[in-house]
Amino acid sequence: MKNFGYTSVRDAGEAVRLAGRTPGAAFVAGGTDLLNLMKDGVTRPEHLIDVNRLDLARITENATGLRIGGLARMRGVSEHQAVTRGWPVISEALLASASPQVRNMASIGGNLLQRTRCGYFRDSASPCNKRVPGSGCPALEGWSRGHAVLGGSDACIAVHASDLAVALTALEAVLTVRGQAGERKIPIGDFYRRPGTTPHVENALRPGELITAVEVPRSQAARKSKYLKLRDRATFEFAVVSVAVAIDLRGRSVRDVRLAFGGIGTVPWRSREAENELRGRELSAETVARAGKALVRDAKPRHDNEFKVELVQRALAEVLEGLR
Ligand code: SF4
Repeated sequence: MKNFGYTSVRDAGEAVRLAGRTPGAAFVAGGTDLLNLMKDGVTRPEHLIDVNRLDLARITENATGLRIGGLARMRGVSEHQAVTRGWPVISEALLASASPQVRNMASIGGNLLQRTRCGYFRDSASPCNKRVPGSGCPALEGWSRGHAVLGGSDACIAVHASDLAVALTALEAVLTVRGQAGERKIPIGDFYRRPGTTPHVENALRPGELITAVEVPRSQAARKSKYLKLRDRATFEFAVVSVAVAIDLRGRSVRDVRLAFGGIGTVPWRSREAENELRGRELSAETVARAGKALVRDAKPRHDNEFKVELVQRALAEVLEGLR
């Protein structure tokens, strides 16, 4: 067991100032991922900054969109009427995530920052470039069933685990983050980093920055949005493949569409190639099949996960068929 410091803070300014002057500090809210990582020796913060008392849990909507505080809990967001009415894909993604107990505890900011479920990453006895840069990636030649077929590198092929991040990618959400230099906004499409040669760099957060809110634009496509998650068991499991669709249909004509996928990419995977096969066209079996092929055109499956290439195309077709 490694000793660590602990401070509970009352406002966001105090939180980021403390993070800025405390080497090895980490924010903690629900702790549903972080505490497991600490117990397993995967991550070893020197100091925990408890942000649960900050006033960052509100969920509000206005004419332009939805604003979810970074400390709103998964359950509260999934059940909120504004969310289920205007952005159903968010609610569906959250309800497909974790257990009710975890959804009661886990914050939205923490959900977006959860670490990969790669078994080698979670086993502190294994080499892993993401956990110990330069130590190697056993998944490349080892057990790769749960790993990415898109966006990988010679250093890492781990998938991002968050269902919510996939839904927010399809909705073109924008994150508000706060650090010592003030507040800034980051479109979710620019937030997550592909592994390249630095798989330990997972997102655009600077040291000591805190996610304070998520803003989601209002749109016709968002109102008609859907999440499908395929997993090995229905109770509590991470996605083998998932699909988030936001679509503006006029009759059977696709006026606008945004597609994002989980379980197949090293980041929540937006496919503009697939969208381009649908936008401005009739939603038919032929256009859906073309979109699926465009999605996986650059896929590089490994030994154990080749099935995902076919499965994700079928999942996309299933969701689009249900929205017609
Ligand atoms: Fe580590 Fe990534 Fe390789 Fe998994 S896939 S062992 S997280 S480097």
